[in-house]
Amino acid sequence: MSGLARLGLTEPWHCVLHLPLRYEDESRVTPIGALSGGEHALTEGRLVHGEVRLRPRRQWIGKVRDDHGDEVTVRLIHFSNAQLQALPVGSWLRLYGEVRGSLFGREMVHPRMRVSEPGAPTRSGLTAVYPTVAGVAQPSIRRAVAAAFAGIDWSDTLDEPTRRRLRLPALREALARLHYPQHIPPADDPAWQRVRFDELLAQRLSLRLARQVRAALAATPLPPPGSAPDRSTASIAGGPARVASADAAGRDLVGALIGSLPFPLTGAQQRAWTHIAADLARAQPMQRLLQGDVGAGKTIVGALACLRAVENGRQAAVMAPTELLAEQHLAKFRQWLEPLGIRVAGLSGGQKKAERERLAAAVAAGEIDVVVGTHALFQKGVAFRALALVVVDEQHRFGVAQRLSLAGKGEGVHSLMMSATPIPRTLAMSYYADLDVSVIDELPPGRSPIETRVIGNPRRDEVVAKLALACGDGHQVYWVCPLVEESEALQLRAATDAYEDLRAAHPGVRFGLVHGRLAAAEKAAVMAAFQRHEIDWLVATTVIEVGVDVPNATWMVIEHAERLGLAQLHQLRGRVGRGPRQSHCILLFEPGLSENARKRLEIIRNSTDGFEIARRDLELRGPGELLGKSQSGQPLLRFADPERDVLLLEQTSQLAEDWIAAEHPAVTVHLDRWLGERQGFWRT
Ligand code: ADP
Ligand code: MG
Repeated sequence: MSGLARLGLTEPWHCVLHLPLRYEDESRVTPIGALSGGEHALTEGRLVHGEVRLRPRRQWIGKVRDDHGDEVTVRLIHFSNAQLQALPVGSWLRLYGEVRGSLFGREMVHPRMRVSEPGAPTRSGLTAVYPTVAGVAQPSIRRAVAAAFAGIDWSDTLDEPTRRRLRLPALREALARLHYPQHIPPADDPAWQRVRFDELLAQRLSLRLARQVRAALAATPLPPPGSAPDRSTASIAGGPARVASADAAGRDLVGALIGSLPFPLTGAQQRAWTHIAADLARAQPMQRLLQGDVGAGKTIVGALACLRAVENGRQAAVMAPTELLAEQHLAKFRQWLEPLGIRVAGLSGGQKKAERERLAAAVAAGEIDVVVGTHALFQKGVAFRALALVVVDEQHRFGVAQRLSLAGKGEGVHSLMMSATPIPRTLAMSYYADLDVSVIDELPPGRSPIETRVIGNPRRDEVVAKLALACGDGHQVYWVCPLVEESEALQLRAATDAYEDLRAAHPGVRFGLVHGRLAAAEKAAVMAAFQRHEIDWLVATTVIEVGVDVPNATWMVIEHAERLGLAQLHQLRGRVGRGPRQSHCILLFEPGLSENARKRLEIIRNSTDGFEIARRDLELRGPGELLGKSQSGQPLLRFADPERDVLLLEQTSQLAEDWIAAEHPAVTVHLDRWLGERQGFWRT
């Protein structure tokens, strides 16, 4: 593959939209004495000394001094003899590069150098520096951009009145200004705004189109029992098969489950369920995201949706991101649904092949109503007799790409995605534009707020002693040992060591250990023992991160909390505070915190509100990192930032709706320019 192709620069539009990272200003000479660390600058002086050193590694060190006596060190790590011969000591040099302040004064590593003379004229204008990969030189990118610039059809997708209304320049004008500026365009330059607007518009259009495509699919309507059938079902007469022996069909199972719960649904749960029930009754597939902070009670709402499928004689599948969580869901669903005569089964990685095949056959024959398992297990091709609903838990683990591929596959299937990653509204607008969103913004009553403390590791023994006492009083403890290094093996050792030490020191406490290397059945057994309070103190790796639910656990200790991100800390802490008793979270840290780690711990100590934490996280990290590449799954936004560009975001969403409603020809042109073949991804 050619270098330009590796950069994705295969089409003229890709080239003109490949925008500079920064600009080099070689129009102005900065005297050596005025150079400051971190900036790129052109400077000049006489080479007064040059030598090759062999230690600590082979390098060439030069000293350049100007008429004021100010000096800058030049360091070359890679160099040829020919290059050195062209730089004789005593010559006057022009240097361009990044200035570093070091212990020994100013320094430039691998600057561009040429022999010149004092006061020689400088270049005019700025030179664009493009993002690149190894082996692709700037000049070849510049040539490709220039060629594309000259040859492209510049018809603007935003017409004149729209541009005037939005105060945006024409695209050609904007791109010319960014590739070939006279002055460095500031970050809020209208040219950049135009680019961001167009990028957000492309994202919005593609998500809305993906949504439209899926909305045009037919789905089995799942109305409440006894209600008049939806007329639109006529179009898919008969619909897919119903399960063979649907004893439960036609009964008010939703009402029965709600009636059997030891608690009433919160208002927020009821609202979410109302949205979901309305979606399910329609003959188009539901595409809903159920957002709610950890512990908000999403699972029961998912279970109600499954029941609605069963009431209609259909099947439902529940997918979890990990085996552990799948096991927990299975236990919950059994507890809730089996008393109602519903047949629940779990697909698990730990099952014997024969058992799994037997189960798969039962699912295919319609002898199972609700199947719970991991995403991976479902991907191995489970054939359902009458699948009508997929519930995907902790959706953020799956990412946009997966959610789209899922939804694309299950023609006629409703999908409900549940996520505890509270993302700020503006981000949600951008990333979830293809989904309807319901938010559970209220925690079940009777929870006391979690008290969070940040404690230095030197006081670890004190913490341990206190927890041993708490265990004596009937409390239960999670003790989490997160990744010490990027290695599961080391993480495992840290947890195992902690477990052994603690057990030796406190024989009166019942310890348990759970980690990712345990077989699914063993993990489930440990968790079940913890749930039954046969274990007081559970030492765990971060496998317990999502979804685990043990209301009697009131202490959460996280070792090396400084190594975890905010979202993960918040998720972990959410394991406690689920019962009526006061819960505590202790974040142990190794002294010598980085500034960023200190801020993270402070944020988590001061807030238990997932949305607030997500907002602060966003400030610390920016949206790309927050959602992660795989999460955003999107042709990642390169220029726009939905949080900063919230006004643009709102404008694009309006325009996108108008264009799609009007079937505006600009839709295709705009998407071709911005996404090219990547559109296929959204359209499948
Ligand atoms: P999450 O939203 O994090 O998935 P869960 O569904 O696991 O939360 O619910 C957390 C806990 O709250 C569970 O023990 C669940 O049974 C309980 N719960 C759910 N809804 C209510 C409610 N309305 N009132 C009291 N407890 C509830
Ligand atoms: Mg959950």
